[in-house]
Amino acid sequence: MKEFIINTDEIANLISSLPADKWDILAPAKDGKSFDYVLSSDKPIINSEAPPSKISFKEYFFPKSETLFYYKREANEISLTEPKFAEKKLLVLAAKPCDAASLPILSKVFNWDYKDEFFNKRVNNSVIIGLSCAYSDESCFCTSVGLDRNNTKGSDIFLTPFNDKQYVLSVVSDKGDSFVKEFLPNLTEFTGTKETKEFIDNKPFDYKKTKDWIAANFENKIWAETGEVCIGCAQCAFVCPTCHCFDIVDENCDLNCGRRIKNWDACQFGVFTKHASGHNPRNSQEKRYRQRVSHKFDYYYEKFGEVLCTGCGRCTRGCPAGIDIGEIVFSISNQ
Ligand code: SF4
Ligand code: SF4
Repeated sequence: MKEFIINTDEIANLISSLPADKWDILAPAKDGKSFDYVLSSDKPIINSEAPPSKISFKEYFFPKSETLFYYKREANEISLTEPKFAEKKLLVLAAKPCDAASLPILSKVFNWDYKDEFFNKRVNNSVIIGLSCAYSDESCFCTSVGLDRNNTKGSDIFLTPFNDKQYVLSVVSDKGDSFVKEFLPNLTEFTGTKETKEFIDNKPFDYKKTKDWIAANFENKIWAETGEVCIGCAQCAFVCPTCHCFDIVDENCDLNCGRRIKNWDACQFGVFTKHASGHNPRNSQEKRYRQRVSHKFDYYYEKFGEVLCTGCGRCTRGCPAGIDIGEIVFSISNQ
């Protein structure tokens, strides 16, 4: 892996020099709530010690609402028009390992039985600059799901703080390599040793055991106990970098035209599985919460060989009912 030293001035220069008609730049927002666009004159937040933003950057790759096509009827003819797709590239700055890793996880599901060209175009048009993480609280469990503070999964380029004003820049992917060659050609090669000490010591987590327990315990009091307090708000799904449920609806402008749109949805909503007949196979919060955990730690693992979770802890930090997904899966894994 090629490594260079980059200082904060060089990062500021990079931001001001990227052509604004070709590139959007995204970084953690100042209020800590989400990611936001950075202007060429802005000083982006690159802070290893900051907590993960309350909302992940998922919406920039999988928007809350997106038009799939427009339709129009004239006489007996129906015509379809594709939406214009923004061709600008996206540079994401300072993505924590628990954010960056969500993209390859989401890519598996968006390229499984159907290739989602919208998602794929956005990912292909992006460059992710990951940032080593020095934050940890009781909701974090990234090291339990195979990540760590220096994990480069999903990053094209990775920054590790070296001192107050300098980072070690590691080139992770071919896309990252091309980006560095084009926009950062004068960096000094790094030949020293960077500090890679792990300090987040999460509890061990046994995927296989957890998966098998969930499969064998479709009826268990743990689901009833959690369903009793879960209010079905779906905050957990909307802040999560890996949740990806959506609904497709037609929105008419009048009787002869409209658009088909894809909107975020969540398995925690009561109507998510409600059939047109009125029957609802998940007619209680107990069943809906069981689905959330089963999808992440049983069905997804069975299908793709990894869990649908980066251990970012967002769902737990924001849950109004105090439900801690890490605590639930650890209690299962440690039985
Ligand atoms: S955020 Fe908490 S209360 Fe809301 S749906 Fe998720 S688990 Fe239930
Ligand atoms: S389930 Fe919770 S901890 Fe896991 S990735 Fe989603 S928000 Fe993060």
